[in-house]
Amino acid sequence: MLRPSRRVGQRNSAVAADGRDLRSADSGQAAPAPPVVVSAEHAELLRMKAALDLIGEGVVVYDGQGNLVFRNAPAERYLSSGPSDVLAAQAVADMLGHACAGEYREQALELVSPTRRTLSIRAFPLTEPGSGGAVAVVEDVSERQRLDAIRRDFVANVSHELKTPVGALSLLAEILDGEEDGEAVVRLARRISTEAERLVRIIDDLLDLSRIEANEDSQRELVPLESLIGQAVEPLRSVAASLDIPVGVEALPTGWAIPGDRRDLVSAVKNLVDNAIKYSEPGSPVTIRAVVRPGAVDIEVVDRGVGIPQRDRERIFERFYRVDRARSRTTGGTGLGLSIVRHVAANHGGSVRVESVEGEGSTFTLHIRAVPVADGGHLPTGEEVIA
Ligand code: ADP
Repeated sequence: MLRPSRRVGQRNSAVAADGRDLRSADSGQAAPAPPVVVSAEHAELLRMKAALDLIGEGVVVYDGQGNLVFRNAPAERYLSSGPSDVLAAQAVADMLGHACAGEYREQALELVSPTRRTLSIRAFPLTEPGSGGAVAVVEDVSERQRLDAIRRDFVANVSHELKTPVGALSLLAEILDGEEDGEAVVRLARRISTEAERLVRIIDDLLDLSRIEANEDSQRELVPLESLIGQAVEPLRSVAASLDIPVGVEALPTGWAIPGDRRDLVSAVKNLVDNAIKYSEPGSPVTIRAVVRPGAVDIEVVDRGVGIPQRDRERIFERFYRVDRARSRTTGGTGLGLSIVRHVAANHGGSVRVESVEGEGSTFTLHIRAVPVADGGHLPTGEEVIA
């Protein structure tokens, strides 16, 4: 192992390398440490070691006789900090043994304790003339594997979701092709347009979700609470009226604004109100209110609709999860609305939760950071409020 005989750049030491006390007797101040002298070769090795300690992967080097000559700091963490690391250390030693004999080896090692994780281990022979030996590179790939699985699931889900309207479109077009009855043609054309709209909604929501997830190019501003709720609720009034659902906004606390992206915040509240309308029976009211909390505001959307069974309450925030697929389909749902709400909340340092009683209704609460606005409603323009 590379062990420097002296520490380079050591500061504030009160004892010299030769053991002399460097503090001056009367001042108590430490005298400047004399410069530490190391050979150019040694300095080079120390630099290499420091560099290898900084990379994320564990690096273990054996010499040509199969002796351990170097282990960087991440390798120490991977191979000697927990009980199951004995297994990893053994695997690395075995693979380095083979690599010393000239064979490249690689392995994905599944460990279960203390947490489930996967180490990728690769061992390479060192074949440069004069070097000999072998090097193993150890990497924790658990997070990468988890993200790959999520991506695979997502692609499979999107494909499945798109297949349904595309399949319907192709079938309808086929039927339309041989149709001569004028009325039937109009009916089929309408259904084609409904399916096409569904497709557009899914794609729009997917694009929104991916933009919000990336949390890039968001336009930060102070969004007054009243205008946020107004922009979310007003566009839904006509559809609510057509379904005979009264939508009421209770008196809102004045003088509060939410620092964030107006478009995303509006989209989050709108999704909640839209759902409250969609999952209510005609005549059943939807209420929106806001309650000021320390440093935050709770925007509550209350309905007396179908409610959500306990077992589904956690999962409804997942992409494409629906309690009742058929109802979501007839109401034109994409299954992405609550995912969007959850991401918007997270991007604004907030959260969303639901309380619900099956058959009696649901209350969705968007808890989000808010700031008081000065001068009875005039928004300060300074960055200090947003910071
Ligand atoms: P969708 O487009 O299907 O409405 P969302 O992501 O917005 O997708 O919601 C996911 C599921 O959660 C819905 O399909 C529905 O089953 C349930 N849900 C959401 N909001 C409500 C609500 N207010 N009342 C009852 N169920 C709801």
